[in-house]
Amino acid sequence: MDDSKRHPELGEATRIVGAGRRSEWTGAVVNPPVWRASTHLYEDTAALFAGTRSNADGRFFYGRRGSPTQWALAEALTALEPGAAGTVLYPSGVAAIAGVMLTLLRPGDVVLISDNAYDPTRAMGKGLLTDLGVEPRFFDPLDLTAYEALFCERTRAVLLEAPGSLSMEVADLPALAAIARARGAISVLDNTWASPLGFPALARGIDIALMALTKHVGGHSDLMMGSASAGPDLYTRLRQRAQQLGTVVSPDDAALALRGLRTLHLRLKHETQSTLAIAQWLQGREEVAQVLCPMLPGAPGHETWKRDFTGGAGLFSFVFRGGDAAARNRFVDALTLFGIGYSWGGYESLALPIEPSAYRSRMPWPPGLAANEDRHGVRLSIGLEDPADLIADIEQALAAWRA
Ligand SMILES: *Cc1c(COP(=O)(O)O)cnc(C)c1O
Repeated sequence: MDDSKRHPELGEATRIVGAGRRSEWTGAVVNPPVWRASTHLYEDTAALFAGTRSNADGRFFYGRRGSPTQWALAEALTALEPGAAGTVLYPSGVAAIAGVMLTLLRPGDVVLISDNAYDPTRAMGKGLLTDLGVEPRFFDPLDLTAYEALFCERTRAVLLEAPGSLSMEVADLPALAAIARARGAISVLDNTWASPLGFPALARGIDIALMALTKHVGGHSDLMMGSASAGPDLYTRLRQRAQQLGTVVSPDDAALALRGLRTLHLRLKHETQSTLAIAQWLQGREEVAQVLCPMLPGAPGHETWKRDFTGGAGLFSFVFRGGDAAARNRFVDALTLFGIGYSWGGYESLALPIEPSAYRSRMPWPPGLAANEDRHGVRLSIGLEDPADLIADIEQALAAWRA
C-alpha cells in the first residue's frame, strides 16, 4: 500500500511524492513501469474465469481496463482529493466532461451550465447533450437567486467552473453546490485551474471534481488527458459508464502524467508567485483597464478566492484601456518569451487574444463592465521562466500596442 494511504496525516508534498506507488505495481523500481498491454495472459482457464467475474480496481483483465501504470495515476489523483473513493481517467479533458455528463444525464433531463464555462463545455451542452434530449440552461454563477430559480423537477446536474474561463470570475462554489444538493442535483466542478491543491472540491461540497490533466498535472505540454474523481457511489457509476464507452488512456501518457504530478505543487507555487508579481505590475500600467486575476487584492473575485481556495495558479487575463483588436494583436505578436497558442499550465509561458463575449449569454464582458469600450483582452499562462524577464517582455510588447 502506498504511503499516502498509510499516513493520511502526512503533508501535501509528502503525499504527492508517495501517491500511487504501490510496490506490487512498481516492483523494485521507483515508478510503475509502462505496461503496454492489450492482452493479459492467464495461468489457466480457472484464472481466466475468475478474472472475467471480477471487475475490481487493480485487477488485470484486458487492456481496456488499464494496467498498473494507469491504476497508479488514478490512485495518486484519488489520494490528492480528500473525500474521493476513486478516479476515472479519460483521453482528454473534454472527454472527461462528456464521460461525466453521459453518466449523469438521460433524455428529458435539465443540466445547468455556468455561463463562463470553458467554451467546448458550452458547445457540448448545445450539441451532444441537446442531441440526446437533454436541455442545457446557462446561468450566471455570481447570481445565486437567478441560479436557484432555474431548478425544476428535471434538473439532474449542475456544471460549475471557477475561476470562469477567460474572464476569471470566482463564484461561490460551496453555495452553488449546496443549492444543487438541496434540489437533488449532482454538482460537477471543472477544477482544472486550481487542482485539488488549490481547491479541495469534494471537501467543499462538490459531488464530482474533474480536471484536464493536459494542463497543470501533465505540466509539460506533451500529453492530453482528463480525470474525474468522486465518492464511492458516483465513482462506481462513472467507472461503469467509462467501461461502456470504451474509455481508456495509453500507459505511456499515464506515465508522463504521473511524472508531471510529482512536481505539481512546486510548479503551482512558482507560477502563483510569478503571476502575482506580473499581475501587480500590469495593474500599475496606464495601457491596462482591468487585471482579471483572483489572487490579486482588489481584483474581481479576490475575496471569494481568499475565502475558499488554498492556492493559486498561473493563468489570468487582462483588458486593455481603449485601443482596438489590431493593437491587442500587435501586443501578442510582439511578445518574444510567450508562445501564441491554446492550452496552458505547461512550464512555458503562453499568450492568447480573447473575446469571451462570443461565448456568453448571461454575463457581461469584461466582468462587471456592461457596454464598455475596454473589451480587448489577453490571457496569459505564466510558466517557470524568471518573472523579471517576462515583465520586461510584456513591457516591450506594450510599446507595440501603443504604436
Ligand atoms: C483545456 C481545458 C479543458 C479540456 O481539456 P482537453 O484535454 O484540452 O480536452 C477543460 N476544461 C478547462 C478549464 C480547460 O482549460
